[in-house]
Amino acid sequence: MALLEILEFPDARLRTVAKPLTAEELKDPALQTQIDNMFETMYQAPGIGLAASQVNYHKRLVVIDVSEDKSEPLVLINPEVTPLTDELESMQEGCLSVPGFYEEVVRPERVKLKALDRHGKPYELIAEGLLAVCIQHELDHLNGKLFVDYLSPLKRNRIRKKLEKQHRQVG
Ligand SMILES: [Zn+2]
Repeated sequence: MALLEILEFPDARLRTVAKPLTAEELKDPALQTQIDNMFETMYQAPGIGLAASQVNYHKRLVVIDVSEDKSEPLVLINPEVTPLTDELESMQEGCLSVPGFYEEVVRPERVKLKALDRHGKPYELIAEGLLAVCIQHELDHLNGKLFVDYLSPLKRNRIRKKLEKQHRQVG
């Protein structure tokens, strides 16, 4: 397995809209390696979710594990999410592509997820709380959207400037 490079805001590649994985691609052993590498990269960061877009692989693929002990790995391929309630929940979100920044974001508190697992088998689940937030956050990535897009332009620009400065210092 290998660690993948995580793109950081404001990298324009994070704005790419990811394409669905085809039946052909689902059968390719390279996909299994990509999934394993994404889990390893996410756990090592550490994070609870990673979208393929964040590692410059623009397919509709997400890995998630909101457990404390890496015991609930979840693979989402070609996922679709539907809010199940009008109730909104505000939670502090962070992102491996926006390191060091945490801000409140408001989202539906209960959602239904439809996706394929790593072997292409369809499944559905109903998610609440942290998992619901994580699923919505990661699906946004596949559409080129970041949690900072929910913030005021002032806050977003402040974060962008700080990260750009860090990127210049790192070289
Ligand atoms: Zn993120």
